[in-house]
Amino acid sequence: MGKLSDIGTIKEILNKYGFSFSKALGQNFLINPSVCPKMADLGGAGQGIGVIEIGSGIGVLTYELAKRADKVVSIELDTRLIPVLNDTLSEFDNVKIINGDVMKIDLKKLIEEEFPEKKVVVCANLPYYITSPVIMKLLEERLPIESITVMVQKEAADRLCAELGTRQTGAVTVSVNYYAEAEMLFKVSSGSFMPPPKVDSAVIKLSVRHEPKVNVKNEQLLFQVIKAAFSQRRKTLLNSLSNSMQFKKSEISEAISLAGVELSARAEQLKLEDFAAIADELYKLK
Ligand code: SAM
Repeated sequence: MGKLSDIGTIKEILNKYGFSFSKALGQNFLINPSVCPKMADLGGAGQGIGVIEIGSGIGVLTYELAKRADKVVSIELDTRLIPVLNDTLSEFDNVKIINGDVMKIDLKKLIEEEFPEKKVVVCANLPYYITSPVIMKLLEERLPIESITVMVQKEAADRLCAELGTRQTGAVTVSVNYYAEAEMLFKVSSGSFMPPPKVDSAVIKLSVRHEPKVNVKNEQLLFQVIKAAFSQRRKTLLNSLSNSMQFKKSEISEAISLAGVELSARAEQLKLEDFAAIADELYKLK
């Protein structure tokens, strides 16, 4: 077998196994040889580090991670890829492939069992149909991980890395900001994949905070406020919160004022601290 990142080798492997891409599983495999080494380096794969990868594909990124890290556990849903991976990664004894759905796997247990005493990072070219659910699962479960370095659609990357208080902000930006600091690493053109997706992509890094950015009395309420505020993003905060939350308009109005936020403000203008202050005022009314 030639070098795994060569397009010729990749095509040869796909032919050998008669593999056909599944659109539903977000199968766009990387064929640009410069991307995976860069992702593995910037993602922190190195000595003493354990890596979790989501979506192994034929193993092009797994290969670069395994070359650098102590151990890689890679989760792949598509059973057809397991024999391919056994072939492409045969030179490594520090890689474990788990055939399963990342959304159903107990990642806390996986980390305890596979990476005792190791620092753990996540590095993956994500299946785009579950970008936000995967990122939120990794963060909400409060896993003992240092960072999440992932390839996502360019538009999702812009949203996730937007500065709070600017127009590009969405509910996901604010929610992620509570748990992590987001950073845009580099852009990747659609021609770097086979088959090429319709949109460009980007690699982002979420450095997980050891403590949430703000302290709130009730986390669930904070996330409800964030979601409600962005559910009608063109409306004022007062209107969007009153339309989607179980409080009287007068109570919401008072909570916004007591939190020191303008009643006419819109969700995208607020910082995480503003959402937290509003949630805490509403919590007093519960
Ligand atoms: N890492 C490879 C690469 O960069 O070429 C493949 C990336 S491809 C964008 C996403 C991969 O995630 C596919 O191999 C797909 O089968 C897999 N996948 C899709 N849904 C998944 C899920 N729920 N759990 C685990 N893997 C999944």
